[in-house]
Amino acid sequence: MTQTVVIVGGGSAGWLTAGIIAAKHSPLNKNGQGTRVILLESPDVANLGVGEGTWPTMRDTLRQIGISEVEFIRCCDVSFKQGSQFIGWQRGEGESYYHPFSPPAGYGAINLASHWLDRCTDTSFADSVCSQGAICDMGLAPKTAQTPEYAFNLNYGYHLNAGKFVELLQRHCVEKLGVDYQLGHVDQILNADNGDISALSLSNGEQITGDLFVDCTGFAALLIGKHYQIPFVSQRDCLFNDTALVLQADYASEHTPIASCTKSTAQSSGWIWDIALPTRRGIGHVFSSQHISLEKAERELELYLDSDSELAKVQPSPRKIEFQPGHRQSFWHKNCVAVGVSAGFVEPLEASALVLIEKSAEFVSNNLPQTRAAMDVTAKRFNQITHRYWIEIIDFLKLHYLLSERTDSQYWRDHSHGDSIPDSLRDSLELWRSQVPWVTDTNNRIELFSSASIQYVLYGMGFVTQVNSSRYRSWGKESELADRLIRDNLGKTETLMASQPKNRDLLNLVRGI
Ligand SMILES: Cc1cc2nc3c(=O)[nH]c(=O)nc-3n(C[C@H](O)[C@H](O)[C@H](O)COP(=O)(O)OP(=O)(O)OC[C@H]3O[C@@H](n4cnc5c(N)ncnc54)[C@H](O)[C@@H]3O)c2cc1C
Repeated sequence: MTQTVVIVGGGSAGWLTAGIIAAKHSPLNKNGQGTRVILLESPDVANLGVGEGTWPTMRDTLRQIGISEVEFIRCCDVSFKQGSQFIGWQRGEGESYYHPFSPPAGYGAINLASHWLDRCTDTSFADSVCSQGAICDMGLAPKTAQTPEYAFNLNYGYHLNAGKFVELLQRHCVEKLGVDYQLGHVDQILNADNGDISALSLSNGEQITGDLFVDCTGFAALLIGKHYQIPFVSQRDCLFNDTALVLQADYASEHTPIASCTKSTAQSSGWIWDIALPTRRGIGHVFSSQHISLEKAERELELYLDSDSELAKVQPSPRKIEFQPGHRQSFWHKNCVAVGVSAGFVEPLEASALVLIEKSAEFVSNNLPQTRAAMDVTAKRFNQITHRYWIEIIDFLKLHYLLSERTDSQYWRDHSHGDSIPDSLRDSLELWRSQVPWVTDTNNRIELFSSASIQYVLYGMGFVTQVNSSRYRSWGKESELADRLIRDNLGKTETLMASQPKNRDLLNLVRGI
């Protein structure tokens, strides 16, 4: 029944959705079988042009769409992202910890966090159970020149140039996957008798009809918000940040090392991200306009740039982006589904936007409704799952703030205020005081953020779970295994430190420089 999917919007949400659907479904043939994917984009409204950090999921997404990793790296100014480093989040004194993409050694079979806590060692949790922090400290790559495309020695996602990424996706979708790309500004949305969207009316007088309409119109939220008036659920009381200052800075030299993780440095009323691409760094200050003036936020950004000797000296002229933190109350209504910023957006602390686009588009593609009645059921399920994703995202981001000991500004004090903490997170924290997060946790999570990620943040921030080892019959035996895994991890780290190329060297090789 869903013969024609009309995607409105040509940012990363629109093109990723188009690619994921078109790669799975045969194009519409003369006998009326297959799926036609139309992507409609306004020539008058620019896309966001930011969003430069991905999760490892992007490797699978690109492979499924049929894009070669070499082409991707060459076209989109790509570098490898092995996780995030959080600087100054705990006490604001320059201390740091890693949230790496590789899980702890033995993850799934043995919960090393319990054993690490029981041992009270001086080595950080991440360094005890994973090599990736040490590899990032040295600016090394997660793979070698011999590692096949999309495979790895250490799990990785990407840092990329968002504008070039959209160009590559567009070219690939149109030339290789048969996506019908049309330029046109949607002026009006026409309803059928049952309340479905029957057609989009463009400013040039044309009408575009379809069976399913995907709203990828970014902050405009043209279909889900303006047309269907689906309420927006603000998260401003929980995640205060609502403004970003974004800029790009050149390296001091073409030989300057390329960092292999996103650096996130806490500020007085927000934080600064720092994403290293082969040719430049993308840096931005995201902050709460209720807690700091624009001028002061600009000064903090300038100070950050001035203190970095690896950057060429530039006069910063950041672009300002304002946003409402939050999401729609529902995401699929009638024959319209929202994907990307139109569905919701909160600060990019854990780069959760692109991964949610990938997950949403995969769901739509895997469950393209065959009848109109089936669409209502699919919509209900999509709404349930996406709602759970949002709870997880909000809880996980808030966790970073909640665990902080900082009290040096109203912003940090407000973050620990009880009213700003979701009940679901409060419940989880209560458990985590006496129970280490693990894969068997039964709180209906669908694991956007794995228990490994939660462990890295909890124990990186100095949280303590009281482990009562005498409760477990198998503790003694497990303890021997834990010893071995922690020892092996140290050995593995040394081997990788000796064998992995520098990030820049490997990227230069792939880029043919
Ligand atoms: C400061 C900042 C930093 C971010 N960093 C990250 C990150 O590190 N990692 C991450 O995963 N995400 C990040 N994001 C989120 C990421 O940028 C977005 O999820 C991503 O760009 C997707 O945007 P979009 O496609 O939904 O919207 P947009 O890029 O805004 O695209 C909207 C599209 O809709 C079209 N449109 C609008 N109105 C009409 C109309 N009337 N008719 C036809 N077409 C129309 C426009 O032409 C455009 O093509 C960040 C966001 C911000 C603001």
